[in-house]
Amino acid sequence: MSVKDQYNRPILSFRMSITNRCNLNCLYCHHDGMLPSKDEMTPLEIEKITKIAKDLGVRRVRLSGGEPLIRKDIVDIVDKISQIGFKDISITTNGTYLSKYSKDLKDAGLDRVNVSLDTLNKDRYKFLTKKDYLDSVKDGILKAVEVGLSPVKINMVMMKGINEDEVWDMFRFSRDNGLILQLIELMESENCEDNIFSQDYHLNISPIEEEIEKIADDVKVRKDMQNRRKYYIGKGEIEIVKPLDNTNFCSNCTRLRLTPRGQIKPCLLRNDNLIDIIGPLRNGASDEELKAIFLDGISKREPYNKEK
Ligand code: SAM
Repeated sequence: MSVKDQYNRPILSFRMSITNRCNLNCLYCHHDGMLPSKDEMTPLEIEKITKIAKDLGVRRVRLSGGEPLIRKDIVDIVDKISQIGFKDISITTNGTYLSKYSKDLKDAGLDRVNVSLDTLNKDRYKFLTKKDYLDSVKDGILKAVEVGLSPVKINMVMMKGINEDEVWDMFRFSRDNGLILQLIELMESENCEDNIFSQDYHLNISPIEEEIEKIADDVKVRKDMQNRRKYYIGKGEIEIVKPLDNTNFCSNCTRLRLTPRGQIKPCLLRNDNLIDIIGPLRNGASDEELKAIFLDGISKREPYNKEK
Protein backbone atom coordinates (compact mmCIF):
# COMPACT_ATOMS: atom_id res chain seq x y z
CA MET A 1 0.00 0.00 0.00
CA SER A 2 1.22 3.45 -0.89
CA VAL A 3 1.29 6.26 1.65
CA LYS A 4 -1.16 9.07 0.88
CA ASP A 5 -0.77 12.75 1.61
CA GLN A 6 -3.42 14.79 3.41
CA TYR A 7 -5.12 15.48 0.06
CA ASN A 8 -5.58 11.75 -0.48
CA ARG A 9 -2.93 11.64 -3.22
CA PRO A 10 -0.92 8.38 -3.09
CA ILE A 11 2.86 8.72 -3.45
CA LEU A 12 3.59 6.43 -6.36
CA SER A 13 6.60 8.00 -7.97
CA PHE A 14 9.97 9.22 -6.68
CA ARG A 15 11.94 11.61 -8.86
CA MET A 16 15.57 12.00 -7.89
CA SER A 17 17.88 14.67 -9.18
CA ILE A 18 21.26 13.00 -8.74
CA THR A 19 23.50 15.85 -9.90
CA ASN A 20 23.17 19.45 -10.91
CA ARG A 21 26.14 19.30 -13.26
CA CYS A 22 25.26 19.45 -16.93
CA ASN A 23 27.12 19.56 -20.25
CA LEU A 24 24.49 21.82 -21.87
CA ASN A 25 23.49 25.34 -20.94
CA CYS A 26 19.82 25.55 -21.85
CA LEU A 27 18.20 28.92 -22.18
CA TYR A 28 15.26 28.04 -19.92
CA CYS A 29 17.02 25.92 -17.32
CA HIS A 30 16.89 26.86 -13.64
CA HIS A 31 20.68 26.22 -13.19
CA ASP A 32 20.55 25.16 -9.56
CA GLY A 33 24.05 26.40 -8.71
CA MET A 34 27.13 24.23 -8.52
CA LEU A 35 27.35 21.19 -6.34
CA PRO A 36 30.81 19.60 -6.74
CA SER A 37 30.72 15.92 -7.67
CA LYS A 38 32.42 15.03 -4.37
CA ASP A 39 29.35 16.33 -2.49
CA GLU A 40 26.81 14.45 -4.60
CA MET A 41 24.92 11.52 -3.12
CA THR A 42 26.86 8.30 -3.58
CA PRO A 43 25.32 5.22 -5.22
CA LEU A 44 24.99 3.62 -1.77
CA GLU A 45 23.26 6.69 -0.34
CA ILE A 46 20.91 6.83 -3.32
CA GLU A 47 20.18 3.13 -2.84
CA LYS A 48 19.42 3.63 0.86
CA ILE A 49 17.06 6.56 0.25
CA THR A 50 15.34 4.73 -2.60
CA LYS A 51 14.78 1.66 -0.41
CA ILE A 52 12.92 3.81 2.12
CA ALA A 53 10.76 5.16 -0.73
CA LYS A 54 9.99 1.57 -1.75
CA ASP A 55 8.99 0.69 1.82
CA LEU A 56 6.52 3.57 1.72
CA GLY A 57 4.86 2.15 -1.38
CA VAL A 58 6.56 4.06 -4.20
CA ARG A 59 6.36 2.08 -7.44
CA ARG A 60 8.28 4.13 -9.97
CA VAL A 61 11.66 5.85 -9.83
CA ARG A 62 12.97 8.48 -12.19
CA LEU A 63 16.53 9.83 -12.27
CA SER A 64 17.08 13.37 -13.44
CA GLY A 65 19.40 16.30 -12.89
CA GLY A 66 21.35 18.31 -14.08
CA GLU A 67 22.38 15.69 -16.55
CA PRO A 68 22.22 12.26 -14.86
CA LEU A 69 24.39 10.60 -17.51
CA ILE A 70 27.24 12.98 -16.70
CA ARG A 71 27.82 10.84 -13.61
CA LYS A 72 30.42 8.19 -14.31
CA ASP A 73 28.68 5.87 -11.83
CA ILE A 74 25.26 6.13 -13.50
CA VAL A 75 25.18 2.44 -14.48
CA ASP A 76 26.03 1.42 -10.90
CA ILE A 77 23.26 3.69 -9.57
CA VAL A 78 20.68 2.14 -11.91
CA ASP A 79 21.93 -1.34 -11.07
CA LYS A 80 21.51 -0.72 -7.32
CA ILE A 81 18.03 0.76 -7.73
CA SER A 82 16.88 -2.02 -10.00
CA GLN A 83 17.73 -4.63 -7.34
CA ILE A 84 15.18 -3.00 -5.02
CA GLY A 85 12.30 -4.12 -7.25
CA PHE A 86 10.39 -1.16 -8.65
CA LYS A 87 7.73 -1.47 -11.32
CA ASP A 88 9.45 1.11 -13.47
CA ILE A 89 12.83 2.90 -13.58
CA SER A 90 13.37 5.75 -15.98
CA ILE A 91 15.84 8.53 -16.69
CA THR A 92 15.33 12.03 -18.07
CA THR A 93 18.40 12.96 -20.10
CA ASN A 94 19.58 15.42 -22.70
CA GLY A 95 20.64 12.36 -24.72
CA THR A 96 24.23 13.42 -25.39
CA TYR A 97 25.63 10.29 -23.68
CA LEU A 98 22.92 7.86 -24.71
CA SER A 99 24.95 6.26 -27.50
CA LYS A 100 27.59 5.44 -24.92
CA TYR A 101 25.38 4.23 -22.07
CA SER A 102 22.07 2.90 -23.47
CA LYS A 103 23.12 -0.75 -23.63
CA ASP A 104 24.73 -0.82 -20.18
CA LEU A 105 21.80 1.03 -18.64
CA LYS A 106 19.34 -1.39 -20.20
CA ASP A 107 21.39 -4.33 -18.90
CA ALA A 108 21.49 -2.73 -15.44
CA GLY A 109 17.68 -2.66 -15.33
CA LEU A 110 16.64 0.69 -16.78
CA ASP A 111 13.18 0.47 -18.36
CA ARG A 112 12.87 3.67 -20.35
CA VAL A 113 14.17 7.16 -21.08
CA ASN A 114 12.81 10.63 -21.75
CA VAL A 115 15.13 12.61 -23.98
CA SER A 116 14.95 16.40 -24.02
CA LEU A 117 14.97 17.67 -27.55
CA ASP A 118 13.21 20.91 -28.45
CA THR A 119 14.21 21.23 -32.08
CA LEU A 120 15.56 19.31 -35.06
CA ASN A 121 17.19 22.44 -36.42
CA LYS A 122 20.95 22.72 -35.75
CA ASP A 123 21.03 26.50 -35.38
CA ARG A 124 18.08 26.51 -33.02
CA TYR A 125 19.60 23.65 -31.02
CA LYS A 126 22.81 25.65 -30.65
CA PHE A 127 20.89 28.77 -29.68
CA LEU A 128 18.93 26.87 -27.03
CA THR A 129 21.70 24.72 -25.54
CA LYS A 130 24.91 26.65 -26.48
CA LYS A 131 26.30 23.37 -27.81
CA ASP A 132 26.47 21.65 -31.18
CA TYR A 133 25.40 18.18 -30.06
CA LEU A 134 22.20 17.68 -32.09
CA ASP A 135 23.60 14.80 -34.17
CA SER A 136 24.88 12.90 -31.16
CA VAL A 137 21.53 13.33 -29.41
CA LYS A 138 19.73 11.90 -32.43
CA ASP A 139 22.20 8.98 -32.56
CA GLY A 140 21.64 8.43 -28.84
CA ILE A 141 17.87 8.34 -29.28
CA LEU A 142 18.17 5.69 -32.00
CA LYS A 143 20.54 3.67 -29.82
CA ALA A 144 18.10 3.78 -26.91
CA VAL A 145 15.35 2.40 -29.16
CA GLU A 146 17.71 -0.22 -30.61
CA VAL A 147 18.68 -1.65 -27.21
CA GLY A 148 15.02 -1.91 -26.20
CA LEU A 149 14.49 0.95 -23.77
CA SER A 150 10.78 1.44 -24.12
CA PRO A 151 9.09 3.74 -24.54
CA VAL A 152 11.58 6.41 -25.55
CA LYS A 153 9.87 9.76 -25.14
CA ILE A 154 10.94 13.11 -26.50
CA ASN A 155 10.46 16.08 -24.16
CA MET A 156 9.86 19.14 -26.30
CA VAL A 157 9.49 22.39 -24.37
CA MET A 158 7.35 24.72 -26.46
CA MET A 159 8.60 28.28 -26.90
CA LYS A 160 6.97 31.14 -28.73
CA GLY A 161 8.94 32.27 -31.78
CA ILE A 162 11.48 29.46 -31.35
CA ASN A 163 10.01 26.04 -32.04
CA GLU A 164 6.23 26.40 -32.22
CA ASP A 165 6.45 25.71 -35.98
CA GLU A 166 8.20 22.36 -35.41
CA VAL A 167 5.45 20.34 -33.74
CA TRP A 168 4.61 18.32 -36.83
CA ASP A 169 8.26 17.78 -37.86
CA MET A 170 8.93 16.52 -34.35
CA PHE A 171 5.80 14.38 -34.51
CA ARG A 172 6.94 12.73 -37.77
CA PHE A 173 10.47 12.21 -36.40
CA SER A 174 8.99 10.61 -33.28
CA ARG A 175 6.43 8.46 -35.07
CA ASP A 176 8.92 7.25 -37.69
CA ASN A 177 11.43 6.20 -35.03
CA GLY A 178 9.00 4.60 -32.60
CA LEU A 179 9.10 7.44 -30.06
CA ILE A 180 6.39 9.25 -28.10
CA LEU A 181 6.38 13.04 -28.33
CA GLN A 182 5.66 15.05 -25.16
CA LEU A 183 4.85 18.70 -25.61
CA ILE A 184 5.72 20.59 -22.44
CA GLU A 185 4.55 24.03 -21.48
CA LEU A 186 7.44 26.35 -20.61
CA MET A 187 7.58 27.11 -16.89
CA GLU A 188 8.92 30.14 -15.14
CA SER A 189 12.53 29.65 -14.16
CA GLU A 190 14.24 31.95 -11.67
CA ASN A 191 17.89 31.40 -12.38
CA CYS A 192 18.06 31.21 -16.14
CA GLU A 193 20.19 33.84 -17.80
CA ASP A 194 17.38 36.10 -19.03
CA ASN A 195 14.02 35.53 -17.53
CA ILE A 196 12.44 33.59 -20.33
CA PHE A 197 9.00 34.64 -19.23
CA SER A 198 9.77 38.31 -19.44
CA GLN A 199 11.40 37.57 -22.80
CA ASP A 200 7.95 36.40 -23.82
CA TYR A 201 8.93 32.90 -24.86
CA HIS A 202 6.01 31.45 -22.94
CA LEU A 203 3.48 29.86 -25.26
CA ASN A 204 -0.03 28.81 -24.37
CA ILE A 205 -0.07 25.30 -25.80
CA SER A 206 -3.85 24.85 -25.61
CA PRO A 207 -4.41 25.94 -29.26
CA ILE A 208 -1.81 23.35 -30.38
CA GLU A 209 -3.60 20.75 -28.27
CA GLU A 210 -6.92 21.66 -29.91
CA GLU A 211 -5.32 21.21 -33.34
CA ILE A 212 -4.02 17.80 -32.29
CA GLU A 213 -7.35 16.81 -30.78
CA LYS A 214 -9.15 17.51 -34.05
CA ILE A 215 -7.10 14.99 -36.00
CA ALA A 216 -6.46 12.42 -33.25
CA ASP A 217 -7.86 8.90 -33.70
CA ASP A 218 -8.09 8.39 -29.95
CA VAL A 219 -7.46 10.21 -26.65
CA LYS A 220 -6.58 8.77 -23.25
CA VAL A 221 -6.27 10.47 -19.89
CA ARG A 222 -3.42 9.31 -17.67
CA LYS A 223 -5.08 9.35 -14.26
CA ASP A 224 -2.07 8.81 -12.03
CA MET A 225 0.12 11.08 -14.19
CA GLN A 226 -1.40 14.44 -13.37
CA ASN A 227 -4.35 13.71 -15.68
CA ARG A 228 -2.19 14.19 -18.76
CA ARG A 229 -3.86 13.73 -22.08
CA LYS A 230 -2.40 11.38 -24.60
CA TYR A 231 -3.38 11.60 -28.28
CA TYR A 232 -3.02 8.82 -30.82
CA ILE A 233 -2.60 9.84 -34.47
CA GLY A 234 -2.01 6.89 -36.80
CA LYS A 235 1.06 5.13 -35.42
CA GLY A 236 2.16 8.22 -33.52
CA GLU A 237 1.52 9.43 -29.95
CA ILE A 238 1.59 12.91 -28.45
CA GLU A 239 1.31 13.70 -24.73
CA ILE A 240 0.59 17.15 -23.38
CA VAL A 241 2.21 18.40 -20.15
CA LYS A 242 0.74 21.60 -18.73
CA PRO A 243 1.84 22.20 -15.14
CA LEU A 244 0.92 25.87 -14.95
CA ASP A 245 -2.39 27.03 -13.49
CA ASN A 246 -3.57 23.50 -13.90
CA THR A 247 -5.59 22.18 -10.97
CA ASN A 248 -5.71 18.78 -12.64
CA PHE A 249 -1.90 18.66 -12.72
CA CYS A 250 -1.78 19.15 -8.96
CA SER A 251 -4.83 17.21 -7.82
CA ASN A 252 -3.50 14.13 -9.62
CA CYS A 253 0.15 14.57 -8.65
CA THR A 254 1.59 11.38 -7.16
CA ARG A 255 5.24 12.44 -7.13
CA LEU A 256 7.75 13.14 -4.46
CA ARG A 257 11.12 14.62 -5.44
CA LEU A 258 14.68 14.65 -4.15
CA THR A 259 17.07 17.51 -4.93
CA PRO A 260 20.74 16.92 -5.86
CA ARG A 261 21.63 18.23 -2.39
CA GLY A 262 19.67 15.36 -0.85
CA GLN A 263 16.54 17.23 0.21
CA ILE A 264 13.01 15.90 -0.09
CA LYS A 265 11.07 18.32 -2.32
CA PRO A 266 7.31 18.03 -1.77
CA CYS A 267 6.31 20.12 -4.83
CA LEU A 268 7.81 20.75 -8.29
CA LEU A 269 6.71 24.36 -8.17
CA ARG A 270 8.05 25.28 -4.70
CA ASN A 271 11.49 25.54 -3.16
CA ASP A 272 10.53 26.84 0.27
CA ASN A 273 9.62 23.58 1.97
CA LEU A 274 12.59 21.31 1.28
CA ILE A 275 13.60 18.80 3.95
CA ASP A 276 17.15 17.58 4.35
CA ILE A 277 17.54 13.80 4.35
CA ILE A 278 21.14 13.33 3.28
CA GLY A 279 22.48 15.16 6.39
CA PRO A 280 20.71 12.81 8.83
CA LEU A 281 21.62 9.79 6.68
CA ARG A 282 25.33 10.79 6.77
CA ASN A 283 25.03 11.28 10.53
CA GLY A 284 23.86 7.71 10.97
CA ALA A 285 20.06 8.08 11.15
CA SER A 286 18.21 4.77 11.45
CA ASP A 287 15.79 3.54 8.79
CA GLU A 288 12.91 4.53 11.07
CA GLU A 289 14.29 8.05 11.39
CA LEU A 290 14.75 8.31 7.61
CA LYS A 291 11.21 7.05 7.10
CA ALA A 292 9.96 9.78 9.47
CA ILE A 293 11.76 12.39 7.32
CA PHE A 294 10.01 11.05 4.23
CA LEU A 295 6.66 11.16 6.00
CA ASP A 296 7.35 14.73 7.09
CA GLY A 297 7.98 15.58 3.41
CA ILE A 298 4.77 13.86 2.38
CA SER A 299 2.82 15.73 5.07
CA LYS A 300 4.04 19.01 3.57
CA ARG A 301 2.61 18.24 0.15
CA GLU A 302 -0.20 20.50 -0.94
CA PRO A 303 -1.57 21.25 -4.40
CA TYR A 304 0.15 24.38 -5.78
CA ASN A 305 -2.83 25.06 -8.03
CA LYS A 306 -5.96 24.55 -5.97
CA GLU A 307 -9.59 24.47 -7.10
CA LYS A 308 -10.88 28.03 -6.81
N1 SAM B 1 19.46 17.12 -18.20
C1 SAM B 1 18.28 16.32 -18.30
C2 SAM B 1 17.50 16.69 -19.54
O1 SAM B 1 17.94 17.55 -20.31
O2 SAM B 1 16.47 16.08 -19.76
C3 SAM B 1 17.40 16.32 -17.09
C4 SAM B 1 17.13 17.62 -16.41
S1 SAM B 1 16.05 18.72 -17.28
C5 SAM B 1 15.97 20.05 -16.11
C6 SAM B 1 14.51 17.90 -17.13
C7 SAM B 1 13.43 18.37 -18.05
O3 SAM B 1 12.95 19.63 -17.62
C8 SAM B 1 13.82 18.55 -19.51
O4 SAM B 1 12.93 17.87 -20.33
C9 SAM B 1 13.70 20.03 -19.74
O5 SAM B 1 13.35 20.31 -21.05
C10 SAM B 1 12.63 20.42 -18.73
N2 SAM B 1 12.71 21.82 -18.36
C11 SAM B 1 13.77 22.49 -17.88
N3 SAM B 1 13.47 23.79 -17.66
C12 SAM B 1 12.18 23.93 -18.01
C13 SAM B 1 11.26 25.03 -18.03
N4 SAM B 1 11.64 26.25 -17.65
N5 SAM B 1 10.01 24.80 -18.45
C14 SAM B 1 9.62 23.56 -18.83
N6 SAM B 1 10.42 22.50 -18.84
C15 SAM B 1 11.68 22.68 -18.44
